[in-house]
Amino acid sequence: MALIDTHAHLTYEGLIENIDEVASRALLNGISDIITIATEPADFEGTLELAKRFDNIYAGAGIHPHHAKEVTNDSLLQIRAFAENEYVVAIGETGLDFHYNFSEPDAQRELFVRHLEIAVKTEKPVVIHSRNAFDETLEILEGFKNKLSKIVFHCYSGTKQQTEVLLNRGYYISFTGIVTFKNAELAREAAMAVPLGRMMLETDCPYMSPAPMRNQKINEPALMVHTAEFIAKLKGIDFNEFCEQVTDTSRGFFGI
Ligand SMILES: [Zn+2]
Repeated sequence: MALIDTHAHLTYEGLIENIDEVASRALLNGISDIITIATEPADFEGTLELAKRFDNIYAGAGIHPHHAKEVTNDSLLQIRAFAENEYVVAIGETGLDFHYNFSEPDAQRELFVRHLEIAVKTEKPVVIHSRNAFDETLEILEGFKNKLSKIVFHCYSGTKQQTEVLLNRGYYISFTGIVTFKNAELAREAAMAVPLGRMMLETDCPYMSPAPMRNQKINEPALMVHTAEFIAKLKGIDFNEFCEQVTDTSRGFFGI
């Protein structure tokens, strides 16, 4: 059994200090590979270092929509250079967050478009962060319809109708430990609806440890096994079969 944590933030506080233990616990729990996602230029170097140091860690290059207001020409140059790196297997997380609105919507839109241009140029898949901005996110993606083929909505918890729209468009959907939370009926409905050929898993650690480990304050890749067990059971699929299929999907998507 092998699983890929397709969205972690290993450079964040709580994980980076103990990276050797975090990486070996992941392997012990069947998490064979991890994609660590950079969310601002200050993150790029540390992210790259991890991807170089560990054979089974890959990088995502993004400036989170939360940071859109801080973006300068310099940071755009930095992310373009970082994205070209062979260790970078994804562009993002990028998108729109109109829930927190830490940055102005227009600044978020513009930064999102810049990321999509980088994805076209580098021919790398895109990891989407979309919160309270479903229609607006799709509208921007529509402008890149024939130029981008691999798009995943990360940390997904949308309505039935939204899930259908994403699947019809050929997008992929990634689930965190939220699916195990008591009040997460929407995420569970979505997990039921998404076929394994379009499903990926992630921790989004250090946030949101899955049940039954919710008391573990710092989530880490090793805990993703609980999310996998939970969804396999929910869908009534043999655990090993489930893991094999979502891992195939993730490998195909990210080319790892
Ligand atoms: Zn994230």
